[in-house]
Amino acid sequence: MRRFAAVLLIANLILPSVAFSADDTPLVGYSSRSSQSEREWETKFRAIPDPKNLRDYMQRLSARPHHVGSPYDKDNAEWILARFKEWGLDAHIETFDVLFPTPKVRVLEMVEPTKFTAKLEEPAIAIDPTSNQKSEQLPTYNAYSIDGDVTGPLVFVNYGLPEDYEKLERLGISVKGAIVIAKYYQSWRGVKPKVAAEHGAIGCLIYSEPHDDGYGRDVVFPQGPMRNPDGVQRGSAMDFASNSPGDPLTPGFVASATNQRLAVKEAKSITKIPVLPISYGDAQPLLAALKGPMAPDEWRGSLPIPYHVGPGPTKVHLKVEFNWDLKPVNDVIAKIPGSVAPDEWIIRGNHHDAWVNGAEDPVSGQAALLEEARGLGLLLKQGWKPRRTIIYCAWDGEEPMLLGSTEWVEAHAEELRQHAAVYINTDGNDRGLLGMGGSHSLEHFINGVARDVEDPETKMTAWQRLQLSKIAEAKSPDEKKELRQRPDLRINALGSGTDFTGFLDHIGVATLDLGYGGEDEQGIYHSIYDDFYWYMHFSDYDFIYGRALSQTVGTSVMRLADAEVLPFDFVDFADTIQKYTKDLEKLLADKQEEVRERNQELEEGVFKATLDPRRPTVAPQKEDVPPHLNFAPMQNAADSLARSADHYRQALAHKQAALSDEQAESLGALNHQLIESERKLTNDDGLPRRPWYKHLIYAPGIYSGYGVKTVPSVREGIEQKRYAEADQEIARVAKALADESALIESAAKMLEQAAR
Ligand SMILES: [Zn+2]
Repeated sequence: MRRFAAVLLIANLILPSVAFSADDTPLVGYSSRSSQSEREWETKFRAIPDPKNLRDYMQRLSARPHHVGSPYDKDNAEWILARFKEWGLDAHIETFDVLFPTPKVRVLEMVEPTKFTAKLEEPAIAIDPTSNQKSEQLPTYNAYSIDGDVTGPLVFVNYGLPEDYEKLERLGISVKGAIVIAKYYQSWRGVKPKVAAEHGAIGCLIYSEPHDDGYGRDVVFPQGPMRNPDGVQRGSAMDFASNSPGDPLTPGFVASATNQRLAVKEAKSITKIPVLPISYGDAQPLLAALKGPMAPDEWRGSLPIPYHVGPGPTKVHLKVEFNWDLKPVNDVIAKIPGSVAPDEWIIRGNHHDAWVNGAEDPVSGQAALLEEARGLGLLLKQGWKPRRTIIYCAWDGEEPMLLGSTEWVEAHAEELRQHAAVYINTDGNDRGLLGMGGSHSLEHFINGVARDVEDPETKMTAWQRLQLSKIAEAKSPDEKKELRQRPDLRINALGSGTDFTGFLDHIGVATLDLGYGGEDEQGIYHSIYDDFYWYMHFSDYDFIYGRALSQTVGTSVMRLADAEVLPFDFVDFADTIQKYTKDLEKLLADKQEEVRERNQELEEGVFKATLDPRRPTVAPQKEDVPPHLNFAPMQNAADSLARSADHYRQALAHKQAALSDEQAESLGALNHQLIESERKLTNDDGLPRRPWYKHLIYAPGIYSGYGVKTVPSVREGIEQKRYAEADQEIARVAKALADESALIESAAKMLEQAAR
């Protein structure tokens, strides 16, 4: 009660002195009057988030291991539910029973040329008080690895990506019947066993290379933030990008009591070969015993050994077995009903489950979400009435592979298709720059929010700091020029790896993914050392960026929820589509040039001339030059999109001042049209060979996982040499873009009529 009074006082004091509230440029989608009042409410909101609370939430939520199915995971869900209720929100828990394997047997030993048994164990560290909670910690493993017991020669495959296997082929090395060892990073970890299996490997080890997140970067934990020799990155190895995320036994539909489940052996997203993550302490003896050719320069890491590729003489035995149990995931859902447009939803989420204690991942983001919810609760008590319905979601089961959010999306798919306007996601949060990813129809919007939030270290706006930092990093004069002249900073397209995936890729809900970071190194990801002690020594320990995240996302939620017209803008989207079209044309032209050049070099004898008989390599095969593709339908659609986007922006600029709730009905129709704008970019049949993924502009890459493939069916068609398919897909994408353009045009006309 005391804190409540104090906050009100501060909010009132701050109001007149804050420069942003004096800005009378109306917010996009707002009439003059409502824009003024919105700015006042937002200013009040931004004074609420309190670093002390963020710290307390983190300490509480990360106090014990809280993975899916653990007692403390449930306890946290109930604690979050109680907070939502205490702050006046209408909240409940939704539970789904999903497949979540945990390890029963884990054995890794070198059987030749010498004996070595891997430790597979992260020791407690005396100074780190939660690192000794052994009985509650999940052992180190990759979830959704298949059971297996294999013995074979070891081959080092760099990051284990398709291009690494091309290099191996040139070295004359096959992984058939071998166990591969790959480094973490550069792709979703599940890509590594997938590609290894495609090349005939029988097992896969993934290790944390010290060059990437160990002593190659900084001092190791507990003296520094980086991974120590025993630290292991747990994580899901589910092949979600080729199939779907969520419960592997109920792909595409909700894991409910009535829906039938597949048998475990029918589940397509479980790996084809056994996989186990290991520390560099365990990896070093295996790698040190390898012979065969030296690994290419860029494959080598920071271990004090010569990096050989193998195969052998290192021979390893890998055995893993799992409990294939169903476990409950508990999503905590809180609602604030809309006052004017309750059937238009703004949804905001962050997961609460972790691999172990998870102070950084996910609690740093979850704490910010909670502080927003508290803030919105306070505003409601002061009389704020959001126009649209706001839904706050604390997801469970994100770590195994988006279990809680995906099942929730599948359970509510029909309602979401009708009502969901925007989904905003966050996950782990650190110090530094604001990261902005999402749907490009929200690029203009989120640039506006970033201009209204203060960066806590520089006291610039978050936008300014980001712009200037990007100028510093930009490689070419053209890039620097664009950063100085383009009104909005470009936002990243979204791949996957966190809870927005079901919303964006499956339903087609316009999405934002936000978070601060970049100033601190970290090597504790998915280990027992990602805990309160680590966060309080090596990350945002005064929680000023936690507060900035609450302010950024809370402002976004309010501004989306209160606008008379949803603040979508299509000019940046159209510009992005123009850019993607050019990128694709260049991708094809570069491929053609590459093949032509290689064929010529083969004819000239370049590969014979460069052959070292003591280190023999295999010449590549001659290939057909890729055919030309017809990009005209996409270019035409992109041009028409640019025209309708301009028309809509002008119509909104001219008409929004005169908007009023007397036109509530026509505004409702217009907003529903706008909500449809992201759905129009989806296709019910989905992407080739992966129908769960319905968005034609954004998808996680089959061979990148987290990394996005924009215009995925065309881009992957070219990359994977399916040129006829790429040609057909250009037409399908162009049709969706033409439909989008027609929708924007009709929205512009509706707007002109609504505000006549
Ligand atoms: Zn996370």
